Amino acid sequence: MKIDILTIFPKMFEGPLTCSLLAKAADKKILNISCTDIRSFTKDKHNKVDDRPFGGGPGMVMKPEPVYEALKSAGVKKRNNLYKNPFKKPLVIYMSPQGKTLKTGIVKKLAKYEHLVLLCGHYEGIDERIIEWVDEEISIGDYVLTGGEIPAMVLIDSVARMLPGVVQDKLSVQQDSFYNGFLDYPHYTRPAEFKKMKVPEVLLSGNHSDIEKWRKEQALERTKKRRPDLLK
Ligand code: SAM
Repeated sequence: MKIDILTIFPKMFEGPLTCSLLAKAADKKILNISCTDIRSFTKDKHNKVDDRPFGGGPGMVMKPEPVYEALKSAGVKKRNNLYKNPFKKPLVIYMSPQGKTLKTGIVKKLAKYEHLVLLCGHYEGIDERIIEWVDEEISIGDYVLTGGEIPAMVLIDSVARMLPGVVQDKLSVQQDSFYNGFLDYPHYTRPAEFKKMKVPEVLLSGNHSDIEKWRKEQALERTKKRRPDLLK
């Protein structure tokens, strides 16, 4: 999968993209991520990416021209381009608190695309006319962050885990919380006793069907208690 990140702070991605699972995914050529600095498409001598809002009011707005040029450089032509296979089209996502909330269902769907283009806003957001080139607006929750970079990282990490080969054992992803509509079961490792607390007996029994049954019950119990909304 190719991911183009359009941002005015490309440096913010240096850490997350070069560590852990995302770095491994890049090494294995499963993920090809590039960061484009929107500022590099400005034409004035001060490299201005923002301007005052028409109509007055607080804050600044990201100017449309450099964002448009950055989108073009990532291969984006126009919204609803007719591709025979819709998953081959570069899917343009604007990270926005006003978008659909990122959930596992959306993450699974995004993992099917060959090319994602993530647009990170700042200030009061981008000039509304740019939405013409945006396919989806995605939020990471009902709160407002300073910019779209951290939301983009959240999206990339969650999508990367769904790509075959990124997480070694695909069962581990499929048993995670939300994948099948439940929360995950509790996990334990050695030692079998820690500060006088013992690991549940069944996990030491070696009886795989009992272990599986216990885990299913635990996952259901937890979901009922903590997230009954998931069971509806
Ligand atoms: N004025 C905007 C509003 O109230 O909807 C908020 C702008 S916010 C300060 C600046 C940028 O951060 C947004 O354009 C967006 O790219 C990003 N952002 C902030 N909160 C976000 C969230 N919850 N999910 C995704 N992106 C977010």
